[in-house]
Amino acid sequence: MNSRRDGILREMGLAPLWRLRGAEEVEEVPVVESAPPEPVVRAPEMLPSGVQAVDEATVKPLARFAPPVAGLSSGPPIEAPATHRDVPGDIASLDWDELDARIRACDACELCQRRKQAVPGVGDRQADWLFVGEGPGAEEDARGEPFVGQAGRLLDNMLASIDLKRGEDVFIGNAVKCRPPNNRTPEVSELAACFPYLQRQIGLIQPRLIVALGRPAAQALLNQEVKIGAMRGKLFEYNGIPVIITYHPAYLLRNQADKAKAWEDLCFARATMRRLKQEVEA
Ligand code: URA
Repeated sequence: MNSRRDGILREMGLAPLWRLRGAEEVEEVPVVESAPPEPVVRAPEMLPSGVQAVDEATVKPLARFAPPVAGLSSGPPIEAPATHRDVPGDIASLDWDELDARIRACDACELCQRRKQAVPGVGDRQADWLFVGEGPGAEEDARGEPFVGQAGRLLDNMLASIDLKRGEDVFIGNAVKCRPPNNRTPEVSELAACFPYLQRQIGLIQPRLIVALGRPAAQALLNQEVKIGAMRGKLFEYNGIPVIITYHPAYLLRNQADKAKAWEDLCFARATMRRLKQEVEA
């Protein structure tokens, strides 16, 4: 293990527990305890107005993920492919500047009342990687950038552990763009009100892979109830883009034992990205 990665893993609380014997082991898809698939429970109130919930049973897997497609066909299957979800209203046609201005002026939910500023997101606007957190905390609200507090420092280390860096082929956003008071979990209605902005960001970025950090981000993206313990280590999708679910860095700060699982998830994400790129090249 090189000393930089060693330092990063120590910082994540994974070394010396996580001594990797060779580079190849990092690339491997981790073995994740197999949990019985959760029944898919749609949360209709999460849908933007005008968008109908669709019965999962009627949805066919996208051709892109159906065997014998090269690359991803060798990895885990996509779980319960979601239906396409359109961006509502005129948000679908906004460019980056217009979207930014719309988010900053948004008063679609009560989170606008106590924010210092909205926090649209940061990073490479053509990134392959999109990481989605929950919502800004106090430091993010003050500085206008996501994940700049303690959880953000852990996120930066998590990125570095798979050779990623904020802003370089990585975009970081949040499920809600305004700080929930006292850092409470965003309400379902707040996630729904803010989701069109994330949808438009995804449309503009067109990432190859989305990593949902924590339950609210995963619920917003997948439009279903989420249990991270049962859903991590599997592939989901948002509008044809693979989604991987892992623990939120703030949760990991409080639950150090789960950092090893987050590391597995990151390795899984990196292996998935490699397969996605190979699939395009094949
Ligand atoms: N937690 C989040 O989910 N997002 C941030 O931007 C900061 C902390």
